Amino acid sequence: MQTNFTAFQLEDPTVARADSIMRRCVHCGLCTATCPTYLILGDERDSPRGRIYLMKQLFEQGEVTPTITRHIDRCLSCLSCVTTCPSGVDYMHLVDMARARIESKARRPLSQRMMRWFLREVLPYRNRFRFVLALGWFARPFRGAFASLGMTRAASALALVPARVPRIKLRKVKDVIRTDERRVRRVALMLGCVQEVLQPSINRAAIRMLKRHGVDVVLVKEERCCGALSHHLGDEDAALASARHNVDAWTAAMRENPFDAILITASGCGTMVKDYGNLLARDRGYAERAREVSSLARDITEFIEELGMTTPLMWTSIKVAYHSACSLQHGQRVEIEPRALLAQAGFTVVEIPEGHICCGSAGTYNILQPELSGQLRDRKLANIATTAPDVVATGNIGCINQLKAGSPVPVVHTIELLDWATGGPAPAGLKRLESQIHPIQSLVEMASA
Ligand code: SF4
Ligand code: SF4
Repeated sequence: MQTNFTAFQLEDPTVARADSIMRRCVHCGLCTATCPTYLILGDERDSPRGRIYLMKQLFEQGEVTPTITRHIDRCLSCLSCVTTCPSGVDYMHLVDMARARIESKARRPLSQRMMRWFLREVLPYRNRFRFVLALGWFARPFRGAFASLGMTRAASALALVPARVPRIKLRKVKDVIRTDERRVRRVALMLGCVQEVLQPSINRAAIRMLKRHGVDVVLVKEERCCGALSHHLGDEDAALASARHNVDAWTAAMRENPFDAILITASGCGTMVKDYGNLLARDRGYAERAREVSSLARDITEFIEELGMTTPLMWTSIKVAYHSACSLQHGQRVEIEPRALLAQAGFTVVEIPEGHICCGSAGTYNILQPELSGQLRDRKLANIATTAPDVVATGNIGCINQLKAGSPVPVVHTIELLDWATGGPAPAGLKRLESQIHPIQSLVEMASA
């Protein structure tokens, strides 16, 4: 793509980087076929190519128009276009830079500003989120009334409040959990913010799984939200502050006793932590340590696959539809490992048609863009239904919550199924499938009878 920046404009490192990314685009349009918003809206400005043109206008003219804001806001940052693009256009960092610029200059209506402020100030903080979730639980039955009053964003947010607020207390686990087996690795497990409140059972399953595999697990008390929520809302300062805080926390904890990996069970957070090295590349005090943290970051399934999973203790006929979260498949390119582990654990893994298309969760997208998000969820659920699964597995809490809100079958985290297969408890909602579980021992006995 031809750009027309002046030498003065290119002195700004952000503009120079945006320029080098945009110049790689050859307008081929292949990305439009895999862009969820283009598939739904059919408007070129809601496709990756169209958005790149809008971002060119944004950076060249330095002006934030309502049209630019509208179409960039509608982007899910699902990164499906990045996987598709044959020219290697780094759309992820381009749209991140555009969001930060829009956020610093756009004049948004008061209701939008209030909602964005609320999301930034509540979601990344476990105690605040827990408190708001409890309030939301009381308001949940009235979500229809909110919708009829035109408060669609509030109604959508309430629809995502789980029917039961989890009771497990935060930090009930120790800071260092030692394996009972011969120790082979020592890792930090990031508990995260939203997931640890909405579904603490995921990290508990990961801890059991790691202990069983000879891994000591360290929970670094000082860690906080990875920064992805602020980052996708365009609040660059808050996102970088979170990244620096976590780099400090993990590198300090590693000083005495290094980690073999920093594990993350929410793939949206994993994508962010893997990008710390890039985000802090120009920060002399952090660049090297941020690169080290990013090089240690692994999705939980990546790590278990590298380690080698123990033999499952059960045989089952349970059919699992694996939903590959965008942040895992497009953001981290972790595609084979979760499927391979589920199959190795004895589950029948089925592929969901249009598996590369986002479910509409995308961080806070389902609250900020409820109509589009709802259409994408319905499309995903219809695709899932064609596979007639017993359960849906995925690696991101955002997708779990989004799909749960309309799925007739349970939606769980991949690690919960792997934990169950190797000796852990049945994930919530799967009790009814226990008749489809047979201990391996009983099969051995049947074969020898
Ligand atoms: S990130 Fe997703 S929604 Fe945004 S332009 Fe790319 S494919 Fe479309
Ligand atoms: S596929 Fe890549 S090169 Fe082609 S239009 Fe899309 S972003 Fe540009």
